[in-house]
This record gives sequence, C-alpha cells and structure tokens, in this order.
Amino acid sequence: MSGVSIAQAMAYRGQLAGLSDSADLDTALLLCRCLNRSRSYLYSWPERVLTASELEQFQAHFTRRLAGEPIAHILGSRDFWSLTLAVSPASLIPRPDTECLVERALEIICELGQPQVLDLGTGTGAIALALASERSDAQLLGVDYLPEAVALAESNRLALGLSNVCFQQSNWFAGLPRTQYHLIVSNPPYIDSDDPHLFEGDVRFEPRSALVAAEGGMADIKHIIQVAPDYLLAGGVLLLEHGFQQADAVRQVLASRGFSDIDSRRDYGGNERITMG
Ligand code: GLN
Repeated sequence: MSGVSIAQAMAYRGQLAGLSDSADLDTALLLCRCLNRSRSYLYSWPERVLTASELEQFQAHFTRRLAGEPIAHILGSRDFWSLTLAVSPASLIPRPDTECLVERALEIICELGQPQVLDLGTGTGAIALALASERSDAQLLGVDYLPEAVALAESNRLALGLSNVCFQQSNWFAGLPRTQYHLIVSNPPYIDSDDPHLFEGDVRFEPRSALVAAEGGMADIKHIIQVAPDYLLAGGVLLLEHGFQQADAVRQVLASRGFSDIDSRRDYGGNERITMG
C-alpha cells in the first residue's frame, strides 16, 4: 500500500455528512493536529503522505468525532476571542456568540480606569480571560460552582500569563465577600430541560449544570438579577447572555428589579442574545 495522502485523508470528511455541520473544518483541524501543521499546509501539500503514526492518530481522532465527540474535546482546546483556551468535559465549550458579550463588556468599561469586573459561571474562564487580556488595568474575578472548572480556568490563566484575573469556587454570589463591581457578566445555564437541542451535537458532551436551568431555563438568570444589585457599584452594569427567545423575559425581570438603561444586542446569527441593565 502506498499510504494515505493529505488529500485522501481530507476525503474522510464525507463520513461526517449529517453528523457535523462543519465536516470539512473538523477533518482539517484533526489533520493539522496530527501533522502539527497549520491549515495552509494541508492545501499546499495535498500529495504529502502521512506517516504510519500520523495516520493512526488521525484515524483514532476521526473515530471519536464520528461518535459525536466535540472537536474541542478531541483537540483539548478551542480558540475564543484572541486566545487559545484549554477545554475539558468539566465546562461549556466557549462559543463565538459569547464573543459578542466580550465586545459589549469592553464597550461598557471603555471609559473606566481600573474597572472591577465579576464573571459568574466562568467555566474555562473565557470571558474573564478575554477581558483581562484586553484591559491590563482591569481586575477580574471569575467564579464557578464546579471545582474542576475553577482549576481549568486557573490553568488557562497561567498558560496565558495573565495576572489581573483570579478564579475561585462559588455558587453564584454565595461564597463571595460583599465587594462591589463596575460590571458583572455571566453566560449562565439558560436552556429548558425539555429542549430537544440538548440531544444534538456538542451539548451532549457538556455538563448539564452549565446548560440547563429550571423555570424554562430562567431560574439562574432570575437569581443573578435578583442578587446582582448588592454587588454593583452605583451606575454599575449587569450583562447577561441568554437564549434567543428569552430577551423579553430578561428585560422584564431586570426592569422589575429596578434596573434602567436596559438594552439587548444580537449575536452573529442575528438573535437577541445578550442583555444589559
Ligand atoms: N449557547 C449555548 C447553546 O445553545 C448554551 C450556553 C448556555 O446555556 N449558557 O448551545
């Protein structure tokens, strides 16, 4: 046998049809990893033959992908904002939509010197680390209920060499001293437990505690809105990610808790995805 070339390995993507909506990208990313090369290399050297160990690793990774495992779990990392973050089954895989929350957060703090920011349910630390990397004068605290997620966020912090952010275990505000912040951000669980979306794609491999909330997905959002004012400085802002059909409900809960200047923004898919007050 003459071996398998890059072009032939890329043809494996056909097997992912119907299983992944990014079959081409998935196959390319798995190949890049086992060749330790960038994507441009794949397109420049399609005839390059994989060594036996490269092929073995590629096939092992590809088989995991065929079984539905998220690319981010197979590779152990995901790019978010300008950062590459380690991911694990202990937390949600960072999503591009959450970059819209980072953008909005940066706008909110742009005129503040040394802003103090709290990130609730930080997971990989994605939001807190992205903000910390953009604003070296900011002080960030990221909290998560799961100790494994706190350890993951902390290892991402160390790998990025950021010293203006720290992470601690806390069930929302429960373990926190009464510090007040300029901005509180969160991408909390907001999916209803009956949502059929929970049985498709990457979410099947992510912790339910990071995805699902009671009361039609609104329970944690309501709790955060209820308690947040005690932890906000005068004029401080709460900024939340939520489901694409929850914007009205979130605006209502914010208004009834006394928030003003309530405003929603759309994600890259055009859905109302983040709301501030
Ligand atoms: N946006 C994610 C999804 O729909 C869910 C994130 C969350 O619950 N915070 O898959």
